Amino acid sequence: MDRPLRVAVIGSGPSGMYAADALVNQTAIPVSVDVIDRLPVPFGLVRYGVAPDHLSIRSVRDTLDKTLDKPGVRFIGNLEVGRDISMASLHDYFDAIVLTYGASRDRRLDIPGEDLDGSIAATDFVAWYCGHPDADRATFERLLPTATSAVVVGVGNVAIDVTRVLAKTVGELDHTDMPQHVLETLRASNLTDIHLLGRRGPAQATFTTKELKELGELLEADVVVDPADLAFDEASEQAIATDKAIARNVEVIREWSRREQTGKPRRVHVHFLARPVELRGDDRVREVVVERTALDGSGGVTGTGVLTTIPADLVVRSVGYRGTALDEVPFDERRGVIPNADGRVQRDGASVPGEYVAGWIKRGPTGIIGTNKKDAAATVASLLDDVQNGTLPKPGNASAEQFDQWLAEHANDVVTTQGWRSIDEAERALGQSAGRPRTTIHDTDALLAASRG
Ligand SMILES: Cc1cc2nc3c(=O)[nH]c(=O)nc-3n(C[C@H](O)[C@H](O)[C@H](O)COP(=O)(O)OP(=O)(O)OC[C@H]3O[C@@H](n4cnc5c(N)ncnc54)[C@H](O)[C@@H]3O)c2cc1C
Repeated sequence: MDRPLRVAVIGSGPSGMYAADALVNQTAIPVSVDVIDRLPVPFGLVRYGVAPDHLSIRSVRDTLDKTLDKPGVRFIGNLEVGRDISMASLHDYFDAIVLTYGASRDRRLDIPGEDLDGSIAATDFVAWYCGHPDADRATFERLLPTATSAVVVGVGNVAIDVTRVLAKTVGELDHTDMPQHVLETLRASNLTDIHLLGRRGPAQATFTTKELKELGELLEADVVVDPADLAFDEASEQAIATDKAIARNVEVIREWSRREQTGKPRRVHVHFLARPVELRGDDRVREVVVERTALDGSGGVTGTGVLTTIPADLVVRSVGYRGTALDEVPFDERRGVIPNADGRVQRDGASVPGEYVAGWIKRGPTGIIGTNKKDAAATVASLLDDVQNGTLPKPGNASAEQFDQWLAEHANDVVTTQGWRSIDEAERALGQSAGRPRTTIHDTDALLAASRG
């Protein structure tokens, strides 16, 4: 080929940025990469998922950002594949497409009352407090000041993030980059009790100990655990004996169960062996009906039929994320991922020429940020093998210049790397004016205005 290989990476979250990095870091094949995102800003869930008060994890974006400075890499934001540009057009303009568009939909509980007002998905709550442009600000400004008791369903790290943000004081959050209106709404919160609900036992929960511990160190919230929830069957005992992370978690929870409440204005109640079976209310959710569960000896639980209720005028459902289909791209509805073999997109058992996949939309929503690095590198290795073996489709009908011309025609809408740098500067300046390192700009129009300097 007498020109660099042209690759479009769809999604600028960790997997997209790591894929771009792996493509331009190798020297065997000259490559140019356009990283396309539907949002005006890069970095996906590192910006719109990772908890704002976890500053060191959020600083991963500084590492991801360095890739945008590398020769051959361009960011093209505010361009949604499937809405603003089709896969067919991308195949015309690029030799290969790497799909890294993540898994952004929430999983459902499938219980009665789930759609009552006041019952919200963690995906929406997280998006709101991180300043995602699609977040429904009005709903949270209405719900938070009028709620006194919240139930968070789920015992993963996202459920812990949500619980912590609900339980913290604004003083514990105002060093973050949360948008100012989010801090103001949290300041107006009247929550006194936050219940975290896990259907399995302490030995089956999937938190990391560091995150778990933070719930016991809150300035204005006591953590409360009923000693009766510390139930362990043989499978649990074995898990504790063989898995240090589980043993550490159980130790933290055991220590909490011995604590006296100190009279702080908020309480975080951590419940195990409790599964929600119904949300009840009127014009809004008022209580959660909870069934006691029992360990079944093999890591799962069964219902006991014993029901209790927890008052709740806010319910946050945090039972996982799920991928969605993209027009013209094969999709496994059951697993919520794009079917692939070593990162090569599969249709009817054969690879789709020139289409690859990495990250959450390849594996499902599992692993930590770093997991996407190895995963993206493996996909890029498959792509480069296909180039070497001559199995990529023939170069598209339209040339690189034609895509640049298409971009120039849409210049008012898309955000380039330069535009992102201007947004970055504007957010830092906005933060400094309020004595913070950065304040997230949450509104699409304001982001686009900032991108134009
Ligand atoms: C609430 C939450 C907290 C987390 N906290 C941590 C943590 O503390 N530590 C940790 O290691 N991991 C954490 N994770 C996991 C981590 O964020 C993921 O592993 C990682 O973001 C997945 O990367 P990805 O690139 O596959 O997807 P994403 O990060 O979701 O990126 C996908 C990108 O694709 C874009 N996109 C979507 N559709 C289109 C389209 N049609 N056209 C163009 N672009 C599109 C999106 O705008 C987005 O920018 C957390 C996840 C969540 C949900």
